Amino acid sequence: MSDYATRVLDQVRAKNANEPEFLQAVQEVISTITPVLTANQKYEDNCILERITEPERTIIFRVPWTDDQGKIHVNRGFRVEFNSAIGPYKGGLRFHPSVNLGILKFLGFEQIFKNSLTTLAMGGGKGGSDFDPKGKSDAEVMRFCQSFMTELSRHIGPDTDVPAGDIGVGGREIGYLFGQYKRLRNEFTGVLTGKALNWGGSLIRPEATGYGTVYFAQNMLATKGDELAGKVCVASGSGNVAQYLVEKINQLGGKCVTLSDSNGYIYDPEGINEEKLAWVMDLKNNRRGRIKEYAAAFKGSQYFEGQRPWNVPCDCAFPCATQNEINGAEAATLIKNGCKLVAEGANMPTDLEGINNYLEAKILYGPAKAANAGGVATSGLEMAQNSQRLNWTREEVDAKLFDIMKNIHDNAYQHAREYSPDSQGDFTNYVAGANIAGFVKVADAMIDQGLV
Ligand code: NDP
Repeated sequence: MSDYATRVLDQVRAKNANEPEFLQAVQEVISTITPVLTANQKYEDNCILERITEPERTIIFRVPWTDDQGKIHVNRGFRVEFNSAIGPYKGGLRFHPSVNLGILKFLGFEQIFKNSLTTLAMGGGKGGSDFDPKGKSDAEVMRFCQSFMTELSRHIGPDTDVPAGDIGVGGREIGYLFGQYKRLRNEFTGVLTGKALNWGGSLIRPEATGYGTVYFAQNMLATKGDELAGKVCVASGSGNVAQYLVEKINQLGGKCVTLSDSNGYIYDPEGINEEKLAWVMDLKNNRRGRIKEYAAAFKGSQYFEGQRPWNVPCDCAFPCATQNEINGAEAATLIKNGCKLVAEGANMPTDLEGINNYLEAKILYGPAKAANAGGVATSGLEMAQNSQRLNWTREEVDAKLFDIMKNIHDNAYQHAREYSPDSQGDFTNYVAGANIAGFVKVADAMIDQGLV
């Protein structure tokens, strides 16, 4: 790393010592962009690293709500408006008991570079609450969402900050949040994405993150003259991203043999085909059940309580649950068992040691901010349709998503080839390529706009 990069990283560590996930995300970015920092003195002269690692604004608020018994609960709400150099803040809302400021800062920071890679005009932001929707009635979730939006509505807007879903925030929650925003502001605007189709949503938005991750994997495989057909795949999670990832793998002739939730994973050597996937979607989205029920429903499959699926031999791995779900040892196990490709549907699912293991083994590794950018890209397409008051067809949106994922891939590939010294011959360091490509666009916009 350059002296400048080292100095700023030390400052960020000192200032944010109790935010490990944020520090991990910052370290991953700063450690890979040294070649552009060294080649362009303007970034140091304009203190770009110091500024890009500090959110433009952080909002923290109380969210009081009552349960079905009339008992009062208080959660904490957040919105981190990280960077608006290239467009309005854009990024999801996460409702999960583990949510804290450090996790949302890591997600918001990642979002800056991811959104930049999509080529659409979107800045980076993230928000959420330590509220746990699991086990709550629809009425309780609605009252929580209304209380959360009552404060959030002061800070967001279609040209200011446009939140979307993330863990624990799906179509139901977006509906309640949108309804309350509309009521408070008396405006029907595209202030949230991930809306239902009958009130401003985009076709393909629910599918986009999972489909996009598979498209990214397809593009990486194509650089080796290979394809997904016939590949054995392992995925984690069983929520929005994982479900549509499996759908696309099946459509392309691959076979996905695992899914998980926070209690354990299921292994189905026959593959989670279309019929079984429909059952999983009903289980998770309508019945709100647990993945272990799969093993009872489908003969030949097994459930492993309290474990993650990374010891199952595979050609390709797709982590789609949460951050740091693959550590160094698990990454090494994947590689030892023959895994040749990892594409990240979840945000920062591999820790720094695990990433180093992928890079040393020179497998195809698509980091989250590139591989899962299809979700936010399609949110951008939803914003465009809302502004035009038009709805594009399923085929139109899917074709645009496909092209965007190819562009993101090619952009990361080319920047890696140009700047990253280890990207030679058969190997491309997509981590460096994605970070550099995402950084340059935002950093140059920040310089253009002066010291704000
Ligand atoms: P969902 O809430 O729909 O699903 C999350 C899945 O991950 C569930 O199966 C959940 O299991 C599991 N999970 C959550 N937390 C943990 C944990 N701590 N340990 C193990 N498993 C866990 O969320 P999404 O599918 O939308 O999001 C999944 C990942 O993808 C996240 O990292 C998110 O940031 C990322 N992402 C999502 C995008 C989107 O468009 N939705 C866009 C880009 C990235 P359980 O039911 O037990 O909680």
